Amino acid sequence: MSQHPIDIPGAALGGIAPLPPGVGQSEAQLPSVRPERAPYLVVSNVSKMFKDFTALKNVSLDVREGEFVCFLGPSGCGKTTLLRAIAGLDIQSSGTIHQGGRDISALPPEERDFGIVFQSYALFPNLTVRQNIAFGLENRGMKRADVTARVDELLALIDLAAHGHKYPSQISGGQQQRVALARALAPSPGLILLDEPLSALDAKVRIHLRQELKQLQAQLGVTTVMVTHDQDEALSIADRIVVMNMGVVEQVGTPQEIYDVPASQFVADFIGAMNFMEGTVVNGSDARVGDVTFALRRDGLANGAAVVLAIRPEDVLVADADPQSALLHPNRIAAEVENLEFLGSYLRMYLRHPAFPAKPLVAQTTQTLARALQIVPGKRLDVILPPERLRVFDRLVAHGPASGATSTVAKGGTVHD
Ligand code: ATP
Repeated sequence: MSQHPIDIPGAALGGIAPLPPGVGQSEAQLPSVRPERAPYLVVSNVSKMFKDFTALKNVSLDVREGEFVCFLGPSGCGKTTLLRAIAGLDIQSSGTIHQGGRDISALPPEERDFGIVFQSYALFPNLTVRQNIAFGLENRGMKRADVTARVDELLALIDLAAHGHKYPSQISGGQQQRVALARALAPSPGLILLDEPLSALDAKVRIHLRQELKQLQAQLGVTTVMVTHDQDEALSIADRIVVMNMGVVEQVGTPQEIYDVPASQFVADFIGAMNFMEGTVVNGSDARVGDVTFALRRDGLANGAAVVLAIRPEDVLVADADPQSALLHPNRIAAEVENLEFLGSYLRMYLRHPAFPAKPLVAQTTQTLARALQIVPGKRLDVILPPERLRVFDRLVAHGPASGATSTVAKGGTVHD
């Protein structure tokens, strides 16, 4: 987590009325992902240098009106730097940012139209909850009666109507973060920026609050960008996720797209659990891994090309050992259960096969099926890797384990499918 200023009067609490979406921009400038909603925030070729270190490299993306977008990636990938560029807290070295059709690229924060919430709640400790929420409104010269009405409305919205008189130290962390959100929302900004707003809270509160946040955002329809390194948070809350790695955008997509069709080996590895197997293309549409040939749902691969196959544990099918099943399933191997891991209603199996000498193949199944198959360590199973669930990436560099091994750590590569 980067360091942030505690409070940014004016800028942090919004102010400038946005122009209608699309003003001043040609269609060609606006990436088209969801035509039903207009792009509201458009980031084009943004790069950010800190001396000779490049924190962002040619980042381009759009956020549609009313959308909830998460910037997700490992520590140091540039999420906060991008958020700060959007806020004007750290101007980008090159590239442009448009909000509501207005070029805000060079504007200071106080001339932009956003509300922001940081990980640290950044509430004024000497002001009550009411006064904290009212702070930005009074600074804008709003009439006292209007301020009171707006604060009442927001207190009701965040379910803290009975706590307006309390000071921040007298309410819980989750409640403080709701107050910080209400304060950011108070002037009705066009954009809400959230920088890891839930990460200081304990797990239970975090999960509860992320659902509340999602509901509130949907109810208000305010365009929202949230930085997080927590993939569960991003998958559960975002309309679309921007996956970042080392200053570049690896993929932009819905949670389902990111999970089901990762666009790069990095995304496949970063989101969820994944088995990786290094292989070599044979017959144009198969891959050889050790002594096993796997059919792929891909034509036109160059024979001899080095590839990485990827499959999620829940996509690996298991059945009782049956020599006949080899005729039905092209990607069937006979493997032995090495180890088991109980995950509540699921069971994770570590499977040994000579094709994967370095690491076991991980499969996941329901406890119900595991009981029916009487799965125990040492049991031999038929294991099927359905061709349609196998993803294929170029193997650009020889990373990690030797050929034929499975691995959950592998970097680089381009999607084939
Ligand atoms: P985290 O989840 O840890 O906050 P992040 O993805 O938000 O990570 P950033 O804070 O955007 O990462 O930082 C991206 C890179 O830029 C990091 O390598 C960081 O050290 C570097 N960086 C950020 N701010 C500065 C700065 N003011 N001066 C120099 N380098 C910086």
